[in-house]
Amino acid sequence: MEELLERLLEECRPFTGKGRVADYIPELAKGDPDALGIYVIGSEGKHAWAGDCRRPFTIQSVVKPILLLQALLDNGAEFVTRRVGVEATGKPFDAINAGDQELDSGNINPMVNMGAIVMCSLIHGHSYDERFRRLLGLTRRLAGDGEIGVDEAVYRSEKSHGSKNRALAYLLKFHGLLEDDVEEVLDCYFRPCSIQADCRALAHIGAVLSNRGRLPASNERVFPAAMSRYVNAVLMTCGMYDGSGEFALRVGVPAKSGVGGGIMAVVPTRMGIGIFGPALDRKGNSVAGIRLLERLSQELYLSIF
Ligand code: GLU
Repeated sequence: MEELLERLLEECRPFTGKGRVADYIPELAKGDPDALGIYVIGSEGKHAWAGDCRRPFTIQSVVKPILLLQALLDNGAEFVTRRVGVEATGKPFDAINAGDQELDSGNINPMVNMGAIVMCSLIHGHSYDERFRRLLGLTRRLAGDGEIGVDEAVYRSEKSHGSKNRALAYLLKFHGLLEDDVEEVLDCYFRPCSIQADCRALAHIGAVLSNRGRLPASNERVFPAAMSRYVNAVLMTCGMYDGSGEFALRVGVPAKSGVGGGIMAVVPTRMGIGIFGPALDRKGNSVAGIRLLERLSQELYLSIF
């Protein structure tokens, strides 16, 4: 497996030159566009890796499936579906899915910013600080890394350049989809986006989702199997923003990308994969990362279709 990963990584490295690092906040613009790494954790617990797989980066939108899991654990599937919907928006992650018409949960989705902001308000806790701490606890468990924490510089950058997310949150509030104080809810969105991870952590999260809610090594259950079906289905249809259809054709597995360059992919019953490649395409997905997943999928017949 290591040899295969090394070979594919070198084959895909030139694709890093086809993308650009995210620059919507100054901290992310400092990313290394040439970096590329992959980490795989098999359902039987075997690890394999290649390239820049232990380099830290911020998880960004890859936290959305974790927010969804926490919201599901706290409220159950019916309640969450009613509040954030499940249909693909077919629009970019930060799109304002409302014109003059009423905004309702049918126009949002848990894998885009509007849905993620609503999910922050669904997590149980006496304060937003407690909600975030619970989410961080779940993230650490899923990632198999009890040390994971927030990149403070990215968090400050998100918070001070978050006008678009503020606009989304106020719109949700205007339409009655958000009840709490906007700044408090947003703080609980910016901090999760700024959690620092690496490819190994993402592979571990993917492995739990592929293992129907059980940790790969101990087999200990973190969430019910029905929730992994829920999350994996949403990832399949909406996890790669408005590039999810093409990703389904090229790779064919549930996955979630983030603008920090991460991709967390789930190969049901087989493996979790973590990718790092900060040079992004126009939709916000890692160019070389997708190519690498496409090649791995071809070599190992990973597509679920
Ligand atoms: N923090 C980012 C934002 O809300 C996350 C976007 C992403 O990774 O898609 O704009």
